[in-house]
Amino acid sequence: MKETNLKPVVPVRQSYWQDLLDAFATILKGMWVTLRNFGRVVIKRQATTITKKWGSRQIALRYRGTIGLTIDRRTGKENCIGCLACERICPDHCIHIETIDDKPGHKGKYPVVFVIDNNLCSLCGLCVEVCPVPALIHTEVWQVGGYSHRSLVFDKQRLLEIGEWQQERWIRAGLGIVDQVTGKKSMQMTDEEWKAEEEKKKAAAAARAQRAAAARQQQTAQTARAKHGSSEKTISQETSEV
Ligand code: SF4
Ligand code: SF4
Repeated sequence: MKETNLKPVVPVRQSYWQDLLDAFATILKGMWVTLRNFGRVVIKRQATTITKKWGSRQIALRYRGTIGLTIDRRTGKENCIGCLACERICPDHCIHIETIDDKPGHKGKYPVVFVIDNNLCSLCGLCVEVCPVPALIHTEVWQVGGYSHRSLVFDKQRLLEIGEWQQERWIRAGLGIVDQVTGKKSMQMTDEEWKAEEEKKKAAAAARAQRAAAARQQQTAQTARAKHGSSEKTISQETSEV
């Protein structure tokens, strides 16, 4: 039979005392890690997870937390233009919007109902990305809890409160209004700008109507001239025949 020269996978130490020494060294290393973290966590209070009595860890200003709605700080009007892009793109179908076409002073459609069901929202952020204006934002709010599913369904008022709280935080931190943070432009106008645009629209409509009336008049005159011309021709033909 052929002899094999295989070495054991784990080297076997011959010395009992060497093993004992290794065991002690390992225990001391483990204890050193424990002591070091004890000092860091309990004495210096630098724990990765902290208890509530030490307060909350500071959340980043651009944290992608609970969704909120915003108001245009320049005009004081809601930024949403009711395009429904967010409702369509939401993979969890947790946004519900109802709009009206004309609200004087509001550019675009006006959302009378705007609901987000936080029981379903996965904070994927697609709604925030697709929004063409700075109406929907992620906020630092992460402690969303309740005693019932219904309490996690946020209506427009609640969404505006959260969104405006976040916008205020950005302004105070020097990041600016929501337009500057998101890089999107609000479509809302002040009452004066709205009136000026309405007047411009009215003037343009009046000018169009005037042009159409002039064109109609010209057409009538041309038809009348053509008729008059043909009747004169018939009379002259009849006269020459006689
Ligand atoms: S974050 Fe995602 S899941 Fe939540 S409302 Fe927006 S699109 Fe829907
Ligand atoms: S929040 Fe934005 S995407 Fe959603 S309806 Fe309003 S404007 Fe459109």
